[in-house]
Amino acid sequence: MNQQIISAVVSEVLAKIKQENLGGSVAAPAVVSRPSKRMGVFDTAEAAAQAARKGQEQLRKKGIATRVEIINLVKSICTEKAEEWGKLEFAETKIGRLDHKIAKLTGIKDIPGIEWLNPYSLSGDNGIMMEEYAPFGVIAAITPVTHSVPTISGNIVSMVAAGNGVVFNAHPGGAGCAADAIAFFNQAIYNKTGIENLVTIIEKPSLDSFNDLCKSSYVDLMCVTGGPAVVNAAMQSGKRAICAGPGNPPVVVDETADLDHAARSIILGGGFDNNLLCIGEKQVFVVDSVHSQFMDAFKRAGAHFLPRENMKKLAGEVFTYKEDGGGCSHPVLNRDYVGADATKLAQVAGTSAPAGTEVLFGDCPGDCPFVEEEQMMPVIPVVRAKNVDEAIELAYQSEHGYRHSAIMHSKNLDNLTKMGQKMDCTLFVKNGASIAGLGMGGHGYANFSIATTTGEGIVTTQTFTRKRRCVMVDSLNIIR
Ligand code: NAD
Repeated sequence: MNQQIISAVVSEVLAKIKQENLGGSVAAPAVVSRPSKRMGVFDTAEAAAQAARKGQEQLRKKGIATRVEIINLVKSICTEKAEEWGKLEFAETKIGRLDHKIAKLTGIKDIPGIEWLNPYSLSGDNGIMMEEYAPFGVIAAITPVTHSVPTISGNIVSMVAAGNGVVFNAHPGGAGCAADAIAFFNQAIYNKTGIENLVTIIEKPSLDSFNDLCKSSYVDLMCVTGGPAVVNAAMQSGKRAICAGPGNPPVVVDETADLDHAARSIILGGGFDNNLLCIGEKQVFVVDSVHSQFMDAFKRAGAHFLPRENMKKLAGEVFTYKEDGGGCSHPVLNRDYVGADATKLAQVAGTSAPAGTEVLFGDCPGDCPFVEEEQMMPVIPVVRAKNVDEAIELAYQSEHGYRHSAIMHSKNLDNLTKMGQKMDCTLFVKNGASIAGLGMGGHGYANFSIATTTGEGIVTTQTFTRKRRCVMVDSLNIIR
């Protein structure tokens, strides 16, 4: 998909929503009536994990064709329910943008399935060998509030394609829509295959339920998608953990870049779902010689400029400062503003931005809290750098060693190589929007868990497998 196609898809979704008189704001559904007993939804972590174990045992008996049936079912449900579930999630979490929540769910159909399980084999003088990808068993998946149902759905596709059962501990802020989706998936899986509770969820997740999952004998593997606290907790749990941790993706724009294209790309990526994506452009470093041209290009592309005093006022509202004990203080995000609309944030900054503004930006010093902290808002600080080397160094510092994502706009191959090597990130997008790194406008496949901390990369079916080798000695090889 190129950028025009993405814009066309988003516009189509928007037009449809407007047609139904939903406009930009979505009222909470009048009554969300939830039956007391729903398949896959449990009160305790242990019950949910045990049920997923039984579900996984049923899947094992049914075989690989059933896995394919289930993931195709999950994908088609996400497409059919995208609008309904997008609205539910938006009403519950109150963050981000409805049109992009819908787009994330319609994108689930593009997540790879069992094609990632092709075995590796060798044949030679001593016989044959085959390595196959086997399931772990039950995976405990911890999901973020920033994309509750999309992360759950993407995890199900990859984990079930690999033959696993899953028990979810969702973020409490997005647990209602997550439980609704799990109940719906389970019922549909049961109707089609007869398997019960292949994917389960704890209805009221908490730190205690997370700890119970870490200790459960029914759980074989953890998969965490979230910020630093939960990643640390999972890595200390004693179980193997695949950790899709935090990021703070910088952008470098050098003097050779197509500035208009760079500006449009930054709005597309940094404005997507009001910058809730962990891969979204969070701060920009521009070389001095093209700084003012870039600021003009950003305005032309539709970003709204905030003068220094407004950026300062906004920072004063959305960050507090915490002493770290060593005489330094660092910014702490006020979660009330995460995923807020640019127009609302402009008001908080003491000014206004035209309706429909997707991104705010300002001319900022390198130590501005919008640069330092993963802010998850459509506010892009633009920092001036002497030259490309300084820009890359500042970008590197601002990423805090998460090795998550970075973006560069340049036509100079040496500069692109220099930045790629320095950042050493899981995702490095050159001359495109960050979302191109997940197959939206760039080549590649999508998923919502990017295992940065533990290094597995953008998760696939293979990520959730154990490699097993089978050997036949001195036989079955037909080449001599
Ligand atoms: P969060 O860390 O607040 O919550 C994530 C999950 O962890 C939730 O289910 C939450 O209930 C749980 N949790 C939080 N602290 C915990 C603790 N101490 N012990 C046990 N469980 C805990 O994150 P969020 O606000 O929901 O999501 C945003 C964060 O997630 C950002 O840092 C973003 O970069 C990151 N994220 C990363 C990816 C990725 O693929 N790498 C994807 C999405 C989000």
